[in-house]
Amino acid sequence: MARVLVGVKRVIDYAVKVRVKPDKTGVVTQGVKHSMNPFDEIAVEEAVKMKEKKLATEVIAVSVGPAQSAEVIRTAMAMGADRGVHVDVPQAEYELLQPIHISKILAKLALDEKADLVILGKQAIDDDANQTAQMTAAVLDWPQGTFCNKIEKTDAGLTITREIDGGLETIKTKIPAVLSADLRLNTPRYATLPNIMKAKKKPLKKVTAKDLGVDTTPRIEVISVEDPPVRQAGATVADVDALVAKLKEGGHI
Ligand code: AMP
Repeated sequence: MARVLVGVKRVIDYAVKVRVKPDKTGVVTQGVKHSMNPFDEIAVEEAVKMKEKKLATEVIAVSVGPAQSAEVIRTAMAMGADRGVHVDVPQAEYELLQPIHISKILAKLALDEKADLVILGKQAIDDDANQTAQMTAAVLDWPQGTFCNKIEKTDAGLTITREIDGGLETIKTKIPAVLSADLRLNTPRYATLPNIMKAKKKPLKKVTAKDLGVDTTPRIEVISVEDPPVRQAGATVADVDALVAKLKEGGHI
């Protein structure tokens, strides 16, 4: 296995309370802390571990998005990725991109870079789509191993343990393949200061979707984005009889 391509998405930091824009066209992103999608940190960690175990020779971090997306590529390189590709998409256009577009971009890069493995996060915490790995595998016509909990190299390819409802599933796959990282695959390392400094010197290539020949025309239109309904305040009752009376009154029993 030579080359691993990892997708790293810049998303609103998980600790930020997301606010809907007053015109309901989306959420406020300006002036808000962004970070690498947490599942992508796990994907980078796995790829870097493969390199450390000499199962991979090169790790390439890819991010699609506006200029600031280069920051998460630098973080991936500080974690150990060898180089980066930034697919530059202006903010206004990026807000209309969907997983199908990202998948076509990643698939094209996987072929151009002669990658043997594409590792993505299982889900981006902003759109919660959980589609990109599956669609990338479909575009490439490569096998997919999603929700990886464990990835082991075998002579024939990979043995993957997947997190499924109520348990774990073990599958075998040949490479090239597309994988997606689940939460328990590993614990991502922190980027240390010396490695952050070293990452500044690692190669970072900038391309556009057009350069890759990918049509990014939107396929769906967002009609409105709304806040979740505000939870009604609860009430305290004096004893069980009062509780039962209240439930009856509300028609619940
Ligand atoms: P999603 O299908 O949107 O939930 O995203 C799943 C995974 O696809 C993410 O965890 C990333 O690894 C990858 N991905 C999605 N969007 C991007 C992007 N703009 N740039 C790089 N990777 C992405």
